Amino acid sequence: MGECIFCQIAADELPSHRVYEAEDVIAFLDVNPLANGHTLVVPREHHERLQECPESTAIALWSAVTELVPAIEAAVDADATNIGINNGSAAGQEISHSHVHIVPRFEGDGGRPIHAVAGRRPDLDDDDLEAIGEAINQHLK
Ligand code: AMP
Ligand code: ZN
Repeated sequence: MGECIFCQIAADELPSHRVYEAEDVIAFLDVNPLANGHTLVVPREHHERLQECPESTAIALWSAVTELVPAIEAAVDADATNIGINNGSAAGQEISHSHVHIVPRFEGDGGRPIHAVAGRRPDLDDDDLEAIGEAINQHLK
């Protein structure tokens, strides 16, 4: 993926403040951080969405996140973290190389929980939830 900046960072063709390296995954500081210590965890291979990553990469990605979170919290003295993926352009993804955001949070920082990312909320009753759950289940088969 010639023009992808995260591929270029992974190949050391562009600079980054790298904080983690493993066989399939790297992590570096977000250049335009939402908070001190805002870190991006990135598969070395180019995949646009999480569901396109091979299972071994998805496992390595989550393993890296789990290892990085306490290190980041300690480094910037954070009280908590939000962890999330903008998975597709409708969800706000700007760089089409899948990545996980780790955003440190601090008591009284004025930020919001992850529930704040969605748009208009649907009004669903129990039957609606049942039908949606069933549809998801069908697609897993
Ligand atoms: P997303 O909307 O999830 O695709 O977010 C992309 C993130 O990448 C943004 O938070 C940017 O600040 C960050 N970003 C863009 N270019 C770079 C770069 N060269 N190094 C580090 N982070 C970057
Ligand atoms: Zn890429």
